[in-house]
Amino acid sequence: MSASRRPALLATDPELASFVAAEEVLQAQTLRLIPSENYVSAAVLEASGTVLQNKYSEGYPGRRYYEGQQNIDRVEALAIERAKGLFGVDHANVQPYSGSPANLAVYLAFAKPGDTVMGMALPMGGHLTHGWGVSATGSWFRGVQYGVQQDTGLIDYDAVRDLALAERPKILFCGGTALPRTIDFAAFASIAEEAGSVLVADVAHIAGLIAGGAHPSPAGHVDVISTTTHKTLRGPRGAMLMCREEHAKAIDKAVFPGLQGGPHNQTTAGIAVALHEAAQPSFTAYAHAVVANAKALAAQLLERGFDLVSGGTDNHLILIDLTGKAVPGKTAAKALDRAGIVVNYNTVPFDTRKPFDPSGIRIGTPSLTSRGLGVDHMPQVADWISRAVDAAAKGDERALAAIRAEVTDLMSAHPAPGLPLS
Ligand SMILES: *Cc1c(COP(=O)(O)O)cnc(C)c1O
Repeated sequence: MSASRRPALLATDPELASFVAAEEVLQAQTLRLIPSENYVSAAVLEASGTVLQNKYSEGYPGRRYYEGQQNIDRVEALAIERAKGLFGVDHANVQPYSGSPANLAVYLAFAKPGDTVMGMALPMGGHLTHGWGVSATGSWFRGVQYGVQQDTGLIDYDAVRDLALAERPKILFCGGTALPRTIDFAAFASIAEEAGSVLVADVAHIAGLIAGGAHPSPAGHVDVISTTTHKTLRGPRGAMLMCREEHAKAIDKAVFPGLQGGPHNQTTAGIAVALHEAAQPSFTAYAHAVVANAKALAAQLLERGFDLVSGGTDNHLILIDLTGKAVPGKTAAKALDRAGIVVNYNTVPFDTRKPFDPSGIRIGTPSLTSRGLGVDHMPQVADWISRAVDAAAKGDERALAAIRAEVTDLMSAHPAPGLPLS
């Protein structure tokens, strides 16, 4: 692989070009298991790196504050139509710069500073932007949090209802970043209705599974769907807010002019392409394969004595609790990285360790599935993880290097979308 794919960049800034080329090698050679990451297609990459970058487009298609929008309007309108079709919603806003600003726009649309908002606690698998203390959403709003049951690792919907009725939050979030199980949107909808809350499904992690029919859809159950576009949906880094017609004005006003200036048109183009790809039968197969791989990998890990939060997975994500192992999450994550397996360390529910050095690691199958790995490969993947965690406990760097060589071998046989062939 080389930087020659980018001759202008190489000529102008060889130092930066070398970093990009090195990243291509890293992404090609490693087994990437971070569940919020993926590989975009070459088509998405091309759409995202265009002269659409050069254009200011404050406003919405047909209602802009700058002239010269003949083409930009078509790009954004196409992305909107595709989002509406794919997710079965009345309205879509494709301008949020990323998932966090998308959620901030939801607060701006439906709450005032100091209002009570409710979401899953961060250490239980929720997201920072659901009212957690260190986030602006937790300091400007009064965040109350629900969690999972200690024995099952599952959401206790009765407890969520009790808290919601006691607190009457303006906004109720469902969804999170470390939830291995299916979200019951209908159950949340009945709770939100009783409590008088605006219900937001933050499906950043599972949007691709929903699009591909491998997870139930929140459409029809919730007021607002918030999602990133770069996780299982396999688009560029960005976000979307989708809602029923009654909330369309509030959402659009909150994104622009409430929170943002000009949309990133090159990203909008990449989102449009990703949505087109996600509407194909091959993507339905992809989404189901992601889940099948995760279930197979979870079963293989259980066989090797790993403790999984909630005992397994329904989706793309597995949360491994290493409390019973000789190494904590961060040590394991760093050892796995040296073995060519990229994961993140993560808190587990009721973690007794600190967030910066927690008990768990979080893994997922979106990226490896994009490279064409299937359930037959999952025993091998589980084996590598198991061997690497054992090696970490013994400080056996040679074992980690040996795993890395095996990983590189398998990865070179499964080229990743969007990357040059090695
Ligand atoms: C990833 C994620 C976000 C935030 O997305 P960024 O693009 O990183 O700001 C928000 N909510 C959930 C549930 C997420 O998983």
